[in-house]
Amino acid sequence: MKTYIGKGIYRSVAFGKVAVFKRQPVSVKRVYIQDKEAEKARVAEAERKALEQLQDIYEKALKDVGKTDAEIFKIHMMMIKDDDYNELITNIIESENVNAEYAVSLTSDNFAEIFNGMKDSYMQARAEDVKDISHRIIANLSGKAEHIPDPWEKVVICADELTPSETVLLDKNKIIAFVIAHGSSYSHAAILAGNMSIPAVVGVGGEFIDQIVDGSEIIVDGFTGEVFVDPDKETVARLSEKQRLFEEEKTFLQDLKGKRNVTVDGREINIFANIGSAEEVNASLANDAGGIGLLRSEFLYMGDKTLPTEEQQYTVYKNILEGMGGRHVVIRTFDIGADKQVRYFDHKYEENPAMGLRGIRIALSCPDIFKTQLRALYRASVYGSLGILFPMIASASELEKVLGICEEVKSELRAQGMVFSESVEVGVMIETPAAAIISDRLAPMVDFFSIGTNDLIQYTLACDRQNSEVEQFIDTHHEAVLRLIEMSVVNAHKCGIHVGICGELAADSELTEAFLRMGIDELSVSPASVLRMRNVVRAIDLSK
Ligand code: PEP
Ligand code: MG
Repeated sequence: MKTYIGKGIYRSVAFGKVAVFKRQPVSVKRVYIQDKEAEKARVAEAERKALEQLQDIYEKALKDVGKTDAEIFKIHMMMIKDDDYNELITNIIESENVNAEYAVSLTSDNFAEIFNGMKDSYMQARAEDVKDISHRIIANLSGKAEHIPDPWEKVVICADELTPSETVLLDKNKIIAFVIAHGSSYSHAAILAGNMSIPAVVGVGGEFIDQIVDGSEIIVDGFTGEVFVDPDKETVARLSEKQRLFEEEKTFLQDLKGKRNVTVDGREINIFANIGSAEEVNASLANDAGGIGLLRSEFLYMGDKTLPTEEQQYTVYKNILEGMGGRHVVIRTFDIGADKQVRYFDHKYEENPAMGLRGIRIALSCPDIFKTQLRALYRASVYGSLGILFPMIASASELEKVLGICEEVKSELRAQGMVFSESVEVGVMIETPAAAIISDRLAPMVDFFSIGTNDLIQYTLACDRQNSEVEQFIDTHHEAVLRLIEMSVVNAHKCGIHVGICGELAADSELTEAFLRMGIDELSVSPASVLRMRNVVRAIDLSK
């Protein structure tokens, strides 16, 4: 057994098999060879194995997900047999006297470039497929055939790093935990794991990812941040017991459904849910969230290869509002940038992306894209109670511009005879120290504040939330952060607007009493934390 330690995210334990997430194709070296025939034979053998593997996966997929979704593996098999593809591999070996791995890799790049250059988006998508099959052949060539993860098995995803857009593309139904070598607990992949109610451990270090092998048995302890690879019997028994106790606590919390979020002395607050997609509405309702405090709409943009259209967005927002059955829903306009990169946006390389073009800065630089989202939001507003939230605001003039664009959008909709609710609330994320400091200026301009402690902490303490090396310097209870939060609450209430916390600190039970004493009106946490926080609030007595 080997034990690794990182930072645990969601309080639960998962037992499963490792699937190593590989971002880049395996690194391939060019080696000059003598025996061309032997290299060609190696390719043929690697392809034969690949076809066998794909046939197995296809058959399993047929049972698990049905014919339509399984079809992609048939296409992969056809691609491996494609004459042009194989001819190019052979030509490269023949003419350049190079090894099979290099020839396959070069062929893959060539074909991917051709597909990418095509106008038809279906054909463009084939670039990913050709890379996928080539990766499989190269893995077989380098003797890693039996370690290729079966995507249809329930797995623990182990990755060096995992960007939010990569996480979005994973099939969530097959994942029971994440272990991330780098990245901190404030990174979006970690937050997403929390939203998915599955354990994650981040910052286990590079050694983990170098040593871990697909298919190994693994236990992920989200309570302590421990990861056990090839666990011994005693560890399995100990963690099984821990998980049993956790399940017991969960059952106890179920009894709190339908009860109020009220302190012993009668102070009531809202406990809402943070979500990243329409699918999480069910989890929010199942956990009796009073509403949605934060929908990170950027995940809609990251899950696709092209910008979501107004109609696509309208449908998603409408479904969420309808799904929540009149409970309040706060949708944040896209907070793209920093670690939430969207390929088709063509971000320029930034030395320090967290301080770069992100959130509202992109919205103001691309007003058409922003307007499309606002149109979809306002149009959907008739289906429930909507709040629109603006991320990364740092100045009153930015907010003025944003509100001006909202008015333009509303006028256009009116002119087109399109209906929208007149009671849509607008709010500002307080997630830059600047916004907290000028919260007295921002409060009169909006209907609510939502404090994003993840970014507020990173910018106040100058600690990159993505960098596990500085995690030891992140004091989430730092006086400076708490003072900025309190300042924002006081300024919000002076203007009679409501204020919530939607960053991860909202779920930190050690701070709940302090937040209530500050006057916080709402805590927005992952769906799975709603009932736990209700339990915490109900045990607090502010009269003492
Ligand atoms: C935050 O910064 O606290 C927040 C809620 O936004 P995100 O984590 O998406 O940056
Ligand atoms: Mg933020």
